[in-house]
Amino acid sequence: MKLSTLVTNIPASPTLTITAKVQELKSQGQDIIGFGAGEPDFDTPDHIKEAAIEALNKGKTKYTPVGGTVALKEAVCERIRTDYALSYKPENVIISCGAKHSLYNLFLTLFEQGDEVICPAPYWVSYPPMIEIAGGTPVFIDTTKTGMKLLADQVEAAISNKTRGIIINSPSNPTGMLFDRQELEAIAELCVKHDIQIISDDIYQKLIYDEAEFFNVATISPEVAEKTFIIQGVSKTYAMTGWRIGYCIGNPDVIKAMTRLQSQSTSNPTTFSQEGTIAALMGDQSLVEERRGIFEKRRNLIVDKINDIPGFELITPQGAFYTFPSIQGHMDRFGSASRLAEFLLENAHVAVVPGEGFGSKTHFRLSFAMSEKAIVEGLDRIKQALNT
Ligand code: PMP
Ligand code: GLU
Repeated sequence: MKLSTLVTNIPASPTLTITAKVQELKSQGQDIIGFGAGEPDFDTPDHIKEAAIEALNKGKTKYTPVGGTVALKEAVCERIRTDYALSYKPENVIISCGAKHSLYNLFLTLFEQGDEVICPAPYWVSYPPMIEIAGGTPVFIDTTKTGMKLLADQVEAAISNKTRGIIINSPSNPTGMLFDRQELEAIAELCVKHDIQIISDDIYQKLIYDEAEFFNVATISPEVAEKTFIIQGVSKTYAMTGWRIGYCIGNPDVIKAMTRLQSQSTSNPTTFSQEGTIAALMGDQSLVEERRGIFEKRRNLIVDKINDIPGFELITPQGAFYTFPSIQGHMDRFGSASRLAEFLLENAHVAVVPGEGFGSKTHFRLSFAMSEKAIVEGLDRIKQALNT
């Protein structure tokens, strides 16, 4: 059957494809260790589940307003006030079916044919396709030679008279890097000067290690805040990936337009998921810190294990739950990260995500959202397979 050109040109999300492949192989009884996971391995905390169950029992099974309930928008504003010291109102907020959906709505609302959107590379796999679906053109900035950090000079050089947006994802998926505050301040200044909208995807805000500090450009000044769209959600922070709740906070006119778009696609996000999200945002936050500590221990472990394998080079991630080693020392043998990933699946029964989908064929991504035992076993298998 003939498919539209738009859909024909959309690649499947490589992260979700790997996860599905691992599940399929495991269900066939194969002993695979999957480093593909882009989600916490923990369960959603009980008090959040109970709030959703109570909502169901109370008959909260109907549509809500398209952009989410006022109660949830208020909870989001409260969380942002606490976490960012920024003051927003419900009219600044749209609740969508995951942060991915918020991003999709935002790109389609802000960008169109002829617009350029600056996208630091390595990038999360879904940004370029989403920009292209909107008709825009992603303009990549290679950060592999600047320690995976985005510099203001690089941004200045990438700006043209078509530039309409820039994506900031710090901590970053897949590199785990936090961009430097000084650079972000200079980048924000450029955005104000050239009327560029800033998409700040802060989904990993609560997963930061060592002394690294989270910084969002919207806190610089009201002028910068006016141009900033904060993307947030509960998937990573509260282990709620399957609940499909994310949100965007920013200029109310844009939020209103995004809500119109959402009204013609999904309507409201799932009603009882919204109720669970209120419990997540307003309830006890101690588990968030506890789990962050567990991730930090795993980060330390996986970094040691990767550094122990000849031919890989790794910049220690400061946040999120991914490592993104370079395979420089194995390029002669494999030629690309995809070939290495195929080799590892076949010979080590280990699944990793090759870097091509993140904008680098010389890197691959290993998630550490898994037990320490699996991390050790998986990296031992990789080391051994590469040695033979
Ligand atoms: N942004 C980034 C950088 C991500 O890694 C993810 C991962 N799923 C998302 C957005 C979307 O998250 P969700 O749709 O589950 O809220
Ligand atoms: N964002 C996660 C990842 O990078 C989940 C999968 C996806 O949405 O792409 O693996």
